[in-house]
Amino acid sequence: MLRPPPKHCRNCGTAVEMRLPDDGDTKLRAVCPACHTVHYENPLNVVGTVPVWGDTGQYVLLCKRNIEPRWGKWTLPAGFMELGETTAEGAARETTEEAGAQFEMGEIFTLMNVARVGQVHVYYRARLLSDQFDPGHETIEARLFTEDQIPWDDIAFRTVKETLEHYFADRRAGRFGFHAFDIA
Ligand SMILES: [Zn+2]
Repeated sequence: MLRPPPKHCRNCGTAVEMRLPDDGDTKLRAVCPACHTVHYENPLNVVGTVPVWGDTGQYVLLCKRNIEPRWGKWTLPAGFMELGETTAEGAARETTEEAGAQFEMGEIFTLMNVARVGQVHVYYRARLLSDQFDPGHETIEARLFTEDQIPWDDIAFRTVKETLEHYFADRRAGRFGFHAFDIA
């Protein structure tokens, strides 16, 4: 579901009106009748990693979610990008926060448009430097899985499932690419 527009002006607090702005814009925006601020709602970026372990990257680190939505389901470390950081910095921060992992960042791996919810998800590959994890409060458990062990029916998000499928397919092919696609 798309985020609802603000009800009140972020600048002055007046109740906003949903209307076309006066500058030729063709989308309805929350416009403040008092100070004329136009509130633009834009997609959010979700950034994360595919942290791998083993001499051929045969193990992938997953985190069991201790937060809603999808409490108890498994995910790759990922979260909303913060202002002031790059996509890679955000992905690394989430990996540290959610898994407490030691790792080295790798190449960008997937970029997925999830237009239905107004999000863009970006994953980087990452090489684990240790198989010891110290997950934060958002994670019940962090552990390594081979392809056969992945709990495919208990993966929290479609973006995570698709990224994992691309990872193991590329690993089998012996060559990692960059995969950009849309999630309906
Ligand atoms: Zn205002």
